[in-house]
Parts: sequence; C-alpha cells; structure tokens
Amino acid sequence: MIKKALDTEIQFLPGVGPKRASLLARELGVSTIGDLIKIYPFRHIDRSTVTPIAEVVPDSASVQVTGEVVSVATPPKRITVTIKDGSGEMDLVFFKGLKYIADRLVPGAVFTFFGKPTLFNGRLNMVHPEIDAPQADSGSAGKPGASDRPMILGVYPSTEKLKNAGITGKVMNKLMANALRMTLPEIEETLPDYVLRENALMGLAPAIRNVHFPKDAESLQKARYRLKFEELLLLQLSLLKQKFVRSREEKGIMMPRVGEDFNLCYNALPYQLTGAQKRVIKEIRSDLMSGHQMNRLLQGDVGSGKTMVAVLSALLAVGNGYQACIMAPTEVLARQHFANISKYLAPTGVKAAVLTGSSKASERKKLLPALASGEIGIIVGTHALIEDTVVFKRLGLAIIDEQHRFGVDQRARLWSKTTDGLPPHVLVMTATPIPRTLAMTLYGDLDVSVIDEMPPGRKPVQTMLITERQRSSLWKFIKDQIGLGRQAFIVYPLIFESEKLDYQNLEQGYEKVVEAFPFPPYKVAIVHGQQTNETKTFNMDAFVAGRANILVSTTVIEVGVDVPNASVMVIESAERFGLSQLHQLRGRVGRGADKSYCILVKGDKVSKDSMHRLELLCHTENGFDLAEEDMKMRGPGDLEGTQQSGLPITLNIASLAKDGLILQAARGYAERVLAEDPVLELPKNFLLRKELEKGKYEIKDYSKIS
Ligand code: ADP
Ligand code: MG
Repeated sequence: MIKKALDTEIQFLPGVGPKRASLLARELGVSTIGDLIKIYPFRHIDRSTVTPIAEVVPDSASVQVTGEVVSVATPPKRITVTIKDGSGEMDLVFFKGLKYIADRLVPGAVFTFFGKPTLFNGRLNMVHPEIDAPQADSGSAGKPGASDRPMILGVYPSTEKLKNAGITGKVMNKLMANALRMTLPEIEETLPDYVLRENALMGLAPAIRNVHFPKDAESLQKARYRLKFEELLLLQLSLLKQKFVRSREEKGIMMPRVGEDFNLCYNALPYQLTGAQKRVIKEIRSDLMSGHQMNRLLQGDVGSGKTMVAVLSALLAVGNGYQACIMAPTEVLARQHFANISKYLAPTGVKAAVLTGSSKASERKKLLPALASGEIGIIVGTHALIEDTVVFKRLGLAIIDEQHRFGVDQRARLWSKTTDGLPPHVLVMTATPIPRTLAMTLYGDLDVSVIDEMPPGRKPVQTMLITERQRSSLWKFIKDQIGLGRQAFIVYPLIFESEKLDYQNLEQGYEKVVEAFPFPPYKVAIVHGQQTNETKTFNMDAFVAGRANILVSTTVIEVGVDVPNASVMVIESAERFGLSQLHQLRGRVGRGADKSYCILVKGDKVSKDSMHRLELLCHTENGFDLAEEDMKMRGPGDLEGTQQSGLPITLNIASLAKDGLILQAARGYAERVLAEDPVLELPKNFLLRKELEKGKYEIKDYSKIS
C-alpha cells in the first residue's frame, strides 16, 4: 500500500507551508506528516475543568480559568489585564502581540484562559495564557458548539523558535488534528495479533488517535500503555536477541580449575567475605567454566569490596595457566590497587607488577619481557597497559575498574589482546550504581552481578549541608577530629582539568586551609592533576601514611583511594558536583571504625535543582536509591556515567526512569517470545522482525564495549 498521506512532506499539511516546515524539520526532526504524528504529547491537560480563581494555587501545574475582563493597564512594552470570576481576581500579563490583545481583551469580555499560575507582588498572575472562547459548561455565554472541542489536549515538546514562529500549543493541536484526519486510515498495525491479545493492548491506529486526542482518561492510559509497551518490547527483543546470538557464537577460554593460589589467598584473608562477595565470585567462576566468553558487569557501591572480588577472579585465571590484568582509571589508583593486591597475594607464589604512564624505561625493560614470558601473573595498570608494546603470554582475564572513565576505543584495544584466537574474559567493575531499569536496557546483553551488601561494621556517614558563614565552626570541627587522631579530605571542584583558571579556586582554598591549620602542629598536603606524578604520589603517600592531617585536592581522589583513618570529607562548592560524584567522594570516608562526616559547603547561588540534589544526599546513604532519584529528577539521558555517550538509543514515548513496571512486563514477554522463536523466524513473528530490521533499537556494538 502506498502511504500517500504518511509520506507527504510536512510543508503540504494545511497550516504549515515551507517556512514552518523547515522549522519543524530543524527543531523537531519532522519532515513528513507521518513523522509529525509520532511526536507524542509529553503530558495532557484536562480542558474540561475550569478552576475558580479563588482555588488556583500559585506555582501549580497549568490551570484553566474563565473570567470577565475588569481592567486593562498598558505600561510600556506590556499589557496587564485583570480578570474576575464569581470567586476572585487575577492578573494576566502579555509582552507580545500587544495590539491583538488590546483589541480582544476589552473590559466586559469573557474568555477562558489557560496557563501557569504564579504569584507576583503578592497577586495571582499568569504570563501569556492561552486565550479561548469560554467553555459552554462554565456557565458563561459560550459560543454554540464550543463543547465539541476536545477536552483533553496534548502538550507537545516545543522550542523558543517554534513559539516565535507562531507554532504554539494550540497551533500544534490543530496541525495534529489535520495530520490525523489525513493519515489514520493508512496506519497499519505493527504488532502481531497474538501479542496484542495476550497483553490486552490497544491497536496502533486507535492508540495514536487517543494519545493525541483522548476520548477520556482511560483511553489515554490504554493508548500510552500500548505505545510504551511496543517500544520497550522491541528494545528488549533486540537486546536479548543479540545476547542469545553472541553467547552461542562467542567461544571463550575454558578455565575449569580453581588452583592452589586461589585457596592460599582465600584462606589467608583477614576477614570473612560477605555473602554478596561470595555469590559474585561463584557467578564469575561459573562463567569462566562455561566455555563462553564472560562479559560481566559488576556493580557495587563504594566500599562494598570489589577489589577482593577482582583479586580472587584474577587468581582463578592464574590457576588455569593464564594471566590477568587489572586496569584502573588513574595513576594514583593503579598504584594503590597494586599495593593492596600485593598484600593479598603475599601468601601465594603469584608475581604481580604495576605499569603506568610514569613507569621508568628501566622498569619497563624488566617488566615487559617478564609479562611476555608469563613470569608475571597479574599486572595492574592504567591506559599504559593497552599500548602496543605491551604483550602478554596468555591474557585470560581483563578486569576494568570504574569503567566509564575508559573510552570505548581503549576498551576495544584491550579486547584485541587475544590469546590463541580467543578473547579474554572481561569483568567491568563500577561503583556508579545504575538503576535497575537502566541497567536492564544499557546492559541488556551483559550479565550483571551486584554486590548489594556492605562489609560488616561500616558506620553510616553523617552528611551535612552548610554555608560559608559556618566556616569557622567547620575549621574547629576538623581540628577536634584531628585532635582525636583522624584525618580530613577537603575537595575543590575542577571542571576542566587542563585550564589553569580552575586552579585558582583550589590554590586559594589551599592557602586558606594552611592559614587556618598552621604548621606546626598541622600538616596539609595538596594533590591535583597538574602536578608531576612524583609530586602527586609523594603527597598522596604522606596522607595515606598519616604524615599529613589534611589532604586538599581536586577530584583526583574521587575513585577508590582508601584511607580508613580519614573521618571527614569536606566538599567545597558542592553544588558544582553531580550527585553520583558527590556520593563517590563521600564513600572515601566511613571506611574505618570511626564515625565519619561528609560536609557539603554550598556557594551563594545555588539553583533549586542543585539544592534538591544536595538535600537528597544528606538523607540518602544508599547509592542505588540515589541513582534512582537522580534519574527521576534528570531523566536517564543525563545520568552521570552515561552522559558521555548519552543513551545509545532514543525512545519516543517510554521513559526508562518512569516506566519500570512496563519495562519489566515487556522484558518478561520478550523472553517468552524468544524462548519459542530465538531468531524470530516464525511467520507469526514477521511483524516483530520487520520492526527490528528498521534498526532503531540496535545498540551499536555495545557487546564489545565492555
Ligand atoms: P570498593 O568496592 O569501593 O572498591 P574496596 O574493595 O576498596 O571497595 O573495599 C573497601 C574496604 O573494605 C577495604 O578496606 C577492604 O579491605 C575492606 N573489605 C572488603 N571486603 C571486606 C569484607 N568482606 N569484610 C571486611 N572488610 C572488607
Ligand atoms: Mg574500588
């Protein structure tokens, strides 16, 4: 069937024309009429309800009021109109289209106004409300037939440019009505009959009609459910299909043994592994024995004990005659990992080494041959590990710590260091908790392990929000803590690591700190990205070893650094950090047995959103809860850790943040469909296969990224 209307250029839709067409293309990506009807309202307003002015709540969602114009004031460049209904009065303010407004809104005229109510100088106020003839049922003199207007209207995404070109909400509604009239008869179902039936879904054409112009609230809900379910079902089918195909095809190194070194290390541990650590190690072990390549994401909140899991996993590889590498995002972290890991390895005969950008040529000269000969079993390092000069004898397992710091290319290069034609197993560890719904989507084709239990004895970190005015009591508090033998971190924001200007902040801060904590008796160390590696390591070591009481730094210390004796984390200009970054920083304390504190110092100008974030942090300790909240506040596209690449796919209507339940239903159903028909070759799944072939739901090569 030729889709005459659906494929017609948008400029030919009545009410559009060439000028608006190019704007619609640029602002909303709409080039045909068929594209337009896929722009769904992001919310709806119920125009059947008229709120009495006395009941309008300032700063609430948009409302509709019907009132008579009482007076019109025309100070320069704007018009203020006061209206009244039986219950009260309010002001309407207009800055544009002044002549048109002045002609229509004359005293005595009655209209229905729709807009967002605010309070201005103590008076109820609406800026640029939409103006309509009064509703027939409002009791005022309405035009005959006014009640035939749709009562629930869609609100569409818009931009300043669209509004300036006259494409207001009302105009969008009109365009949409025209577009639907032309295209609805051409819309074909995209889901198989049996899928519609088994999930009680509305058909596509009625769903599209009802999402734009709902018959009633129930039809709207059903329409939205249908459209969201479809998107999420196709997305999950696409991901799960990839996973299925991959696990069938991607052969992996067989590692059937546990090996003596694993047991030697395990039996010498100074503590019991938590239940979660044990479970994750079992999951990893069964992957290594499966004959397929492991691609596992390990999520665990800061301090949950991922390092131990990494060490024991590496020893499994070693026990089977392979080598393992552990990659960390920073030099400091790589060296700290190496120091920790060496301790754990002491009871075993396994030789470990560290390689970073600052490893000296003489070190490399010894190290590289030992790696190539297999003498070194476990190597820890930074990006330096993926240089071409680094050759393994038999790399069997690559562990990547804090994954989102590694670029896609870098991970791919690691992947290429294969052994006997087989790729190494891959374990990616992250402390950025990803909400379940998002993990299911982003890593739909990865296996995910979660350490959801903290080592025993950890005390919660008390988090407080203060302002500059409380500075002197903060200094006193830190002195008290130092008096008790504790140490403190003071972190300054740094947005562009390379720009000198940002360091002013840090250096001024450092001077202030040194002034407040003079030597003797206090010792203050400073670490930042522009220092040489030797200086950085020297200062860091001073703090780790307890020679310095205070460490002033940028976010260099964000990930991983372990100083159990530190009990205070001060974060300066806390509003300039993202939520997960703040959480990571807070995780640096609370690692020892002492009560710990995280003190957020906020600047003068803090937006409402930032304030909300900081308050959230003060009363939420759990990283996963924080991530959920963060995602609800900002939408998944902006979620830290994913924002580098954004979401790898865009959804039209479903929200990964808000539609968790539909997502779960869709995933469960996708699993059932694939269990019966893994590559969707049955005739009854023809429509599903056709939709997937359009490519919208493919996450390009995500399987090889991690
Ligand atoms: P992260 O998951 O943030 O990488 P680490 O592996 O650095 O956490 O562990 C944090 C601290 O907890 C370390 O000091 C480590 O020695 C300790 N730890 C790890 N596992 C346990 C356990 N099962 N019991 C007690 N302490 C543990
Ligand atoms: Mg760690």
